[in-house]
Amino acid sequence: MKSEELLRKTISRFVDNELIPVAREIDEKDEFPWDMFRKLGALGAYGLRYPKEYGGANANNTMFCIMCEELARGSMAVAAFTAMQCLMGTNFIFRYGTAQHKEKFFIPAIKGEKVVAFALTEPEAGTDLFGGVHTTAQKVEDGYILNGMKTWITNAPYADCFTVLCQTDKTKGAKGLNFFLVEKGTPGLSISPKFSKLGTKGTDVSELAFENCHIPLENQLGADGRGISNLTAILAEIRIMTAALSLGLARAAFDASVQYAKERVQFNKPIGKFQAIQLKIGTMATEIEASKHLLYHTTKLLDEGKQCTKEASMAKYFISEVACRAADEATRIFGAYAYSMEYPVQRFYRDTRFLLYGGGTSEILQTIIAKEVGL
Ligand SMILES: Cc1cc2nc3c(=O)[nH]c(=O)nc-3n(C[C@H](O)[C@H](O)[C@H](O)COP(=O)(O)OP(=O)(O)OC[C@H]3O[C@@H](n4cnc5c(N)ncnc54)[C@H](O)[C@@H]3O)c2cc1C
Repeated sequence: MKSEELLRKTISRFVDNELIPVAREIDEKDEFPWDMFRKLGALGAYGLRYPKEYGGANANNTMFCIMCEELARGSMAVAAFTAMQCLMGTNFIFRYGTAQHKEKFFIPAIKGEKVVAFALTEPEAGTDLFGGVHTTAQKVEDGYILNGMKTWITNAPYADCFTVLCQTDKTKGAKGLNFFLVEKGTPGLSISPKFSKLGTKGTDVSELAFENCHIPLENQLGADGRGISNLTAILAEIRIMTAALSLGLARAAFDASVQYAKERVQFNKPIGKFQAIQLKIGTMATEIEASKHLLYHTTKLLDEGKQCTKEASMAKYFISEVACRAADEATRIFGAYAYSMEYPVQRFYRDTRFLLYGGGTSEILQTIIAKEVGL
């Protein structure tokens, strides 16, 4: 069996046996599921993409997306914190951190012993990262002094460290933006209580405030002026990750809809015998199949080292919208029961919204695709 199929089979079994049975509880409790976090660490989920010498599995983008897709089929909250820890949180520490940073944060993080977070967004800098970042890192003799705010930061309430995008020189535009590693407990860093939000309950977001927060010189991650180009270098990976999460959620909504359409009887027939329901199921199946091809075509391009800005943007845009449509159709197929907390459809519906923002909103991705095709 190919290693990709073997991975899918292994994760799928874990999702069916260990994640789906607790997904409702994770959502209802709305508390970070430490047991699941540690379990996934022990399984090697956070290290999947990293070299074996660090305890990783050296997996390619295709395998990473298979994991994200399968986990999202079970619980979007768990899939979201896993994907963030694996791709976003650990990435810059692995690429640009010192040996001590790797020892202290990266290796424990990929084992599931520490949590790391990635902080770009600010109250006035969402889509407009290049122009809107106001958090400053001022160079002083023995380090940097950070001032400003970050918001909507996944895993922030319990993160051990943060990779933070800051402005070091306003006059240099995008070249004046750099990443810094900030350890929890650094004087001047405060973390707000977790936000109350619509979905992905069980994974938390909060706000960070930096007030004369002093960090050492070696905590700059990457060469000076390369912050945005280093971020741009992983944009395609961020987009396909969100596309994979979207595909998993679309499949969960589809599977639940097919099963319900077979079981629910009205007018002495399972509702799946009515053409109106068949049209919905036929469309969902087609869009999911198209999504699989687009996603794994793109991961293959990325694995072959090919340029794929257009395909990664298309995959994130198209598949996140497919997930929204699939969850929406599921709420119609389930009728009133979709409105009940007893069935998972309401959770799928709430969780799809999360997919619309990170990695670029649909509107932004549509404009990127338009440019890529010649506008
Ligand atoms: C659950 C959750 C977790 C998150 N986790 C993280 C995290 O860990 N780290 C982090 O840094 N951020 C995180 N974010 C923030 C996320 O990355 C932002 O929400 C995203 O970048 C969009 O920014 P915004 O929400 O401020 O929207 P805005 O940029 O304010 O956009 C609002 C609307 O305007 C449109 N728009 C904006 N500019 C243009 C334009 N030029 N052309 C056309 N339309 C435009 C957008 O498409 C959108 O419809 C998270 C968000 C959520 C909801």
